[in-house]
Amino acid sequence: VHIWLQIDPVIDTASVYLACFVLPALIAPSCSFFVLRAKMRADWLAAENYRLANSDELTGLPNRRSFFTAAQALQARAALGEGVFACAIADIDNFKRVNDDFGHEAGDNVLKSVGGSLRAMQPEGGVMARLGGEEFAAAGVFPDEASARRYFQQLVRALGGEGCFHGGQRLRVTISLGYCFGRDCDTISALLRRADHALYRAKDSGKNRAAGDAPAPGPIRVPA
Ligand code: GH3
Ligand code: MG
Ligand code: MG
Repeated sequence: VHIWLQIDPVIDTASVYLACFVLPALIAPSCSFFVLRAKMRADWLAAENYRLANSDELTGLPNRRSFFTAAQALQARAALGEGVFACAIADIDNFKRVNDDFGHEAGDNVLKSVGGSLRAMQPEGGVMARLGGEEFAAAGVFPDEASARRYFQQLVRALGGEGCFHGGQRLRVTISLGYCFGRDCDTISALLRRADHALYRAKDSGKNRAAGDAPAPGPIRVPA
């Protein structure tokens, strides 16, 4: 204020005080308010962007991309000796019939309901995701192969027993599931391919069941 009054012979003291204190005191809070609001909106958009990029809109489950990230982390945990890494693909049986008989909206409701049930039954510390369409994937670290097998069999049984409600009537929905066990060197894509082969075996042998991938072929015996 002092310097301004010295160098500007025209201005009066009240105007200098107004310019130096009153205006900034009014402008600063309103600028801070707008900057803060813009920052909160940017944070919200970033979180929304992350959610949209990583979760499935219909079921709210993690999506394919998110499944890969989570499964890789689980595989790394298993590699440290925490247990056996297993992953599975589950596919709703005869889902096209639900769409054909009750309409696409009913199909969507069944997907939401199955997604909710699968989420509630996801492997402890593991991941359950929707890969797309009527296909879901699960991955987890299990104490041993036998307990993973039991878990996948139980998942199929429990889901088949639940059913979904549509317009007051209970729709029976079952899934078929293919699973496999991973080693450190397997990529998640390769494991999903193996689980997919197992899923086709589950479908071929009557649906509403879980199947493991075929055991590795033994050494070829060459006759002497
Ligand atoms: P299977 O037992 O062999 O798996 O037979 P399916 O009828 O379940 O399989 P199919 O591949 O013949 O049909 C899958 C159907 O899923 C066809 C497609 O229209 C439907 N679908 C895929 N995504 C969605 C979705 O987001 N919503 C609805 N309502 N339907 C979907
Ligand atoms: Mg399918
Ligand atoms: Mg299907």
